[in-house]
Amino acid sequence: MTSYYYTWTIGCQMNKADTGCIASYLEYLGYSFTPTIEIADVIVINSCVVRQGAEDKVVNKLNALRGIKRSRPETIIILTGCLVDSCHSRLKQYFPQVDLAFPPQDWEPLLEWGSKHKPESSHCMPFPSHSSISAFVPIIQGCNNFCSYCIVPYRRGREKSRLPGEIADEVRKRVQQGTKEVTLLGQNVNSYGYDLPHKPDLASLLEELNQIHGLLRIRFLTNHPKDMNLNLIQTMAHLDKVCAAINLPVQAGDDEILKLMQRGYTVSQYRSLVEDIRSVIPGISLSTDVIVGFPGETESQFEQTVKLIGDLRFDKVHVAAYSPRPQTTAWRKLEDNVLSDEKIRRREKIETLQKEIATQINARLLGKVVEVLVEGKRKEKWYGRTRTDKLVFFPEEATPGELAWVEVEKTTPWSLQGKMVG
Ligand code: SF4
Repeated sequence: MTSYYYTWTIGCQMNKADTGCIASYLEYLGYSFTPTIEIADVIVINSCVVRQGAEDKVVNKLNALRGIKRSRPETIIILTGCLVDSCHSRLKQYFPQVDLAFPPQDWEPLLEWGSKHKPESSHCMPFPSHSSISAFVPIIQGCNNFCSYCIVPYRRGREKSRLPGEIADEVRKRVQQGTKEVTLLGQNVNSYGYDLPHKPDLASLLEELNQIHGLLRIRFLTNHPKDMNLNLIQTMAHLDKVCAAINLPVQAGDDEILKLMQRGYTVSQYRSLVEDIRSVIPGISLSTDVIVGFPGETESQFEQTVKLIGDLRFDKVHVAAYSPRPQTTAWRKLEDNVLSDEKIRRREKIETLQKEIATQINARLLGKVVEVLVEGKRKEKWYGRTRTDKLVFFPEEATPGELAWVEVEKTTPWSLQGKMVG
């Protein structure tokens, strides 16, 4: 009889990558994935507490599992992610339905559990069978920055880089299993290597990975404007597999607010970094993250952010309304004094502006032929992404993992549609 696992993940790309690792391990043990929670023998919840909204969703999900645990007590519920901190005893008290809880990437408890819980159908594979066209590969864990609003350094600890050889081995293995594109992950990938012997950096890692035969594309997330340097940008420009797309979170367009956020750069430094990037890599796609309603943010400070977004014309902007997170400096020292309706108004104002900008940027691709790495099929259409991270749909038959050339016939702020040519 087949034994099944189910996963539910919320939060950042690191969480998605971690869920991928857990899924691989469960498959290695002999479990098969199911999208139906009711028939799962193992349920994995990967949590996030970066914002209050995310934490609420995790708590609701865990509460909903009480019923499943009552009707099928043999179901194993595994909890990981940032909700799990050192005080396990409190978690047990609040969520007795959870069988196993471990902090992000602290795999020991999972491995110990796995050594005792192989399903009867187990047919242990030599190494994980999990494969995907586009894979996330963590290269550095944790963060040393302590931005005043952010809980990550408290939950994920200080920066810890993986060895370049270990990363290259993982990428090679994934390529053998069918992966064509990797996204290197870290809370701050620009810090990669400073804690390792010989101090490799992200640029040297990209050089090494660029040589892997069969790998088509390399991306990386997330960058910190204070740590991004010209050498990295020039390296990106000359490596054929590194995609012309950068996520560069600005967070605010006002110097006072940036200082309160402890971001370590000014608006003019950020602007000149963007200028440098665009002059070295013309046509690069840039995305950013913004927080609105930070404690004390006045209307005119908020308007500075609006102006920055309007001036720099990003391909994508992720906007979040500020929510205080326990332990952080902002939570300890600053009053959360922007009303929630006002936060929503500010968020919507930026979203509306960005929709207009993205509409115009994407419309410029009309009639152009773009290279798409085919990822899969959704509602009768094949889809994939361009090197500049645009989502493209087309109706012709294709194979996941192939490169398709698509002529763009229709554009929206979020995606492109077209037909395969050549
Ligand atoms: S750089 Fe700042 S926002 Fe990003 S994870 Fe580190 S502390 Fe959080």
